[in-house]
Amino acid sequence: MLRTALKLNLSKFVLLAMIAMMTRFGSSQTVDKPGADPRIAAALTEISAQRIQANIAKLVSFGTRLTLSAQDPAAIASGRGIGAAREWLKSQFELYSKDCGGCLEVKTDSFTEEPADRIPKATEITNVYAVLKGTDPAQAKRVVLVTGHYDSRNSDTLDVNGDAPGANDDASGTAVSLECARVLSKLKFPATIIFLTVAGEEQGLNGSKHFAKMAKDAGWQLEGVLNNDIVGGDKSAEQDHAVVRVFSEGVPVAATEQDVRRIRGLGGESDSASRQLARYIAEVGRSYDTGVKPMLVFRLDRFLRGGDHFSFNQQGFAAVRLTEFREDFHHQHQNVRTENGIEYGDVPKFVDYDYVSHVARLNAATLASLASAPAPPPNVHILTKELENDTTLTWDASPGAASYEVIWRATTSPEWEHAENVGNTTRATLKRSKDNVIFAVRALDIAGHRSLPVVPLPER
Ligand SMILES: [Zn+2]
Repeated sequence: MLRTALKLNLSKFVLLAMIAMMTRFGSSQTVDKPGADPRIAAALTEISAQRIQANIAKLVSFGTRLTLSAQDPAAIASGRGIGAAREWLKSQFELYSKDCGGCLEVKTDSFTEEPADRIPKATEITNVYAVLKGTDPAQAKRVVLVTGHYDSRNSDTLDVNGDAPGANDDASGTAVSLECARVLSKLKFPATIIFLTVAGEEQGLNGSKHFAKMAKDAGWQLEGVLNNDIVGGDKSAEQDHAVVRVFSEGVPVAATEQDVRRIRGLGGESDSASRQLARYIAEVGRSYDTGVKPMLVFRLDRFLRGGDHFSFNQQGFAAVRLTEFREDFHHQHQNVRTENGIEYGDVPKFVDYDYVSHVARLNAATLASLASAPAPPPNVHILTKELENDTTLTWDASPGAASYEVIWRATTSPEWEHAENVGNTTRATLKRSKDNVIFAVRALDIAGHRSLPVVPLPER
């Protein structure tokens, strides 16, 4: 009897769940695990560890990619130095573009960096990138971006001639940008995706600084930047090949004094746009089978180290850093040698290509999800005109949105815990006190692609 009742309840539950699921992607989803888009899931299977391996081997073959190394025509012809690497990257993006009927716009961002701490003489620095323009005129201005640095170094940042293979740091991240470009260029998205490879990272983040400033000056709607730096999964004994770290800034470096006062007053220390991007990656990591799980680290970067995401943060953009779980410092920024039985140097044999392909899948799934989603709702406000226990949120309509979700979490929780779809509206009141939780609003398209969430500003 009990058993029958249970069975009945169970089948009723299954039926209800099925009806609920039919609205979006037809797969099960929860607050923190949005349903997977089958088109994106299929694209991820195209990402190839073999291609990544070949691309890293090619980048290593240039001997050194030090930003200060040769880039004159003779050096380019000889296939040694950063100039040859740059030309090859361009040719790869152009090849991918040819394969998609010219869908990628391949560009360079070149400038001369004047002498500085790690730049002894005026040096030309070139970022190479490909643009997959959004297909929806209302959304093509929105941009999501993936980047890695193609320059390398050895023990001496000024050693122009010595080998600097940089297989992990950062041919691995460069290979992620390339592979995402190759695979995602076969699809179309309403918003724009940029696949970037920068130089000058090891001399002082020069390439990314220039690119981020260009984006800011040109008024780009750059919604998220994924910086892959050291994602080779170094084969050391204590490596965890199932995990990739995602670093994100807390209080934004670009916050004004007024912003900081508000953040301090409302407990917004863990709600920067970069942290919302990190949480988004964590959700994507649960929704898609990428082979690697993101581990969110709530700090800008590792101790004593920095990276290109910071250049974007400085210009006020959401940007995070992806890095392997455990780095082997013998295999970074070192001349290739063996000393006291220890192998030094950033050479290909320490790279786990399957791992890099898993990280590439996580990146591609994140880029594709963001570029498929509507814009994050603009002007999100939480009404604080009077003391009350309900919470009212307002926002402006977002291009491409079919509905909106109010999401929230305990102030002590790292990730979003609850969601309520409030329909296609621009105002919602919840029977829940804003004093006790952190709220945000995100936009959904008809298929269920979710935008980045926006934490409201108080409105009195
Ligand atoms: Zn690096």
